Amino acid sequence: MKKIIAGLIAAAMGAAAGAQAQPSAPAGPLQLWRLDCGDLMMKRYGAWFSDTFQYPAGAKPLVGSCYLIRHGTRHMLWDTGLSDRLIESPIDNAEQSMSLKRSLVDQLKEIGVTPEQIEIVGISHFHGDHTGQARHFPAAKLVIGAADWDALKGTDERLKDTREDLAHWLAGSGKALPVPGDVDVFRDGSVTMLALPGHTPGHSALLVRLASGPVLLSGDQYHFTEQVKNRGVPSFNTNRADTLASHDRFDRIAANVGAKVIIQHEPADIAKLPAFPQSAK
Ligand SMILES: [Zn+2]
Repeated sequence: MKKIIAGLIAAAMGAAAGAQAQPSAPAGPLQLWRLDCGDLMMKRYGAWFSDTFQYPAGAKPLVGSCYLIRHGTRHMLWDTGLSDRLIESPIDNAEQSMSLKRSLVDQLKEIGVTPEQIEIVGISHFHGDHTGQARHFPAAKLVIGAADWDALKGTDERLKDTREDLAHWLAGSGKALPVPGDVDVFRDGSVTMLALPGHTPGHSALLVRLASGPVLLSGDQYHFTEQVKNRGVPSFNTNRADTLASHDRFDRIAANVGAKVIIQHEPADIAKLPAFPQSAK
């Protein structure tokens, strides 16, 4: 019995050490690009973004952001943004407007990356503004929180658009990796998908440990800067208690590793990374 407990403690310590390990150098320089994944105007800001009536009525501009990570010769996309169908047909209704200037494929082409070179597509959560262009990367392995994956396999009508975006993987034609917790994506500590449930059941953020310092990409843990201070929870949210716990974990990780926090929908945070086609290293 003692032996078993000692073994368990050693295994747990090993896991903890792994989680905190500084990355060994990847096969080449780690690079991070911010890609434009759309513009949004939320016209009922107060109603959508606080379940405690914290924000005023009125409109709030947000952006859609996707990211390319180059790890040596390997490539990962983090989120796939609004649908590229919006380039031709932008949406403008009483709730919101959504538009996209340029597709992901087109932006990647500018830096010499083809869709076939994208090995991994990481999805922060199942909302359609994060899955809209996934279908252009059918060769990629889709990595997504297991609880979001399970929800997509269910019958919730609100996930209809996302189901179409990810149909290739849901049908079993593409490789999918639903993950129940944190994932060390390249197995060297350089890029970690962090399980932060609440906004959706399998919501995740992404920690990228660049040589210049760690960067923490929010997913939709927060949608804009004010939410960090006032612990905002949107009214469209799966589990308030989990979201608050995930706010806490997210902030502690950022503080403990000294990460630059980038809120993906926050227009002001675009400037925290070099402007495309430049990358952070
Ligand atoms: Zn979003």
